[in-house]
Amino acid sequence: MNDIPAIEGGVPVRDRKIYYGHQYLDEADYRAVQNVLQSGADLTCGPRIGELERRLCEIGGARYAVAVSSGTAALHIACLAAGIGEGDEVITTPITFAASANCALYCGARPVFADIDDRTYNIDPQSVLAHVTPRTRAVVAVDYTGQSTQIDELRQICKKYNLLLITDGAHSIGTRYKGQPTGSLADLTTFSFHPVKTVTAGEGGAVLTNDPALYQKLLLYRSHGITRDPSQMENEPEGPWYYEQVALGYNNRMTDIQAALLISQLEKLERFKARRRQITARYDEAFSGMEQLRVQEEIPESDTARHLYILRIRPEKLRIDRRGFFDALAAENICCNVHYIPVYYFPYYRKLGYSRGLCPKAEKLYEEIITLPLYYAMSDQDVDDVIRAVRRIAGYYAV
Ligand SMILES: *Cc1c(COP(=O)(O)O)cnc(C)c1O
Repeated sequence: MNDIPAIEGGVPVRDRKIYYGHQYLDEADYRAVQNVLQSGADLTCGPRIGELERRLCEIGGARYAVAVSSGTAALHIACLAAGIGEGDEVITTPITFAASANCALYCGARPVFADIDDRTYNIDPQSVLAHVTPRTRAVVAVDYTGQSTQIDELRQICKKYNLLLITDGAHSIGTRYKGQPTGSLADLTTFSFHPVKTVTAGEGGAVLTNDPALYQKLLLYRSHGITRDPSQMENEPEGPWYYEQVALGYNNRMTDIQAALLISQLEKLERFKARRRQITARYDEAFSGMEQLRVQEEIPESDTARHLYILRIRPEKLRIDRRGFFDALAAENICCNVHYIPVYYFPYYRKLGYSRGLCPKAEKLYEEIITLPLYYAMSDQDVDDVIRAVRRIAGYYAV
């Protein structure tokens, strides 16, 4: 451990620790879960799943939604539905959670890492273009921190080279691009409902699409590759019990207990979004004038439901590096995180032949970022404390 003391005579800006994220649950959420348990309704494949999927279609602006057990499962079946397989390449960003790239590996394909845009930290369409080969099958673009990617540019590239565009929207439920919800702009869009995300089901995910053929495949892969729809069967049904397995799928289903919780959470999405934007605006205002810090830029097309707040330091203007800044914040009882370690840094990826130097902008970003606390239930005092701590540290360690 670097043992950096709190700056003002060892007295931290606050007594209680604050963490980077936390779920927000209320009485309505508790009741929703209790109702499912007490109603005698099915606990899985029941009515709440259909209700949730209709709600996700409204929120995401898509024709079809398929609820699944996690954001990772959503990415997996999205790749399967996209027909990604052995020998294919899938272009994605290194500044993401590993699942955005692992989903290609699950299908036997090779993730290819494109670099980021240095201002927005999202995947750079120019770099995507530079990585297209005859083997490229799809692009997994991540709405990092909740901000929409430059999806018009990405769609153009995908159209030109006949690639499927998958948006990993784990951070971006509630975000709009040019006024349209982000759930319908790519061929497939995935969400995650892990407790650190904007709305939660405990664990959960979903895939949205407008394409009926992709939708049918998503349904198959979610549940063992089994169908009860006679039009999808090879043989005549032998009776009412009859079903067929026509592909190799998984059990990636969500329970009705989770769906009920999520339906209730989604009622609060606009409130969550508004508060997160308010906090983001206060941070931006407090930090944008400080030459030791950089603020994430937004493209004007994105009306962002912000999931993460990324503080970027300028090491050349400071006597400490990111680790030092991170520890100094911890000494002030501001407990942060870092999103993300470039995916190809991990030992598993190194063994697959990836090495440092692939994406210089992403690698530089990783050296300079800290995720500050950002969640619905933060009080104004909490926000003030974080701002005070950041400014104090940036000022004290300024060169
Ligand atoms: C959280 C997350 C995932 C995975 O979601 P799970 O629900 O945890 O499986 C995928 N991609 C990104 C960008 C995420 O933040």
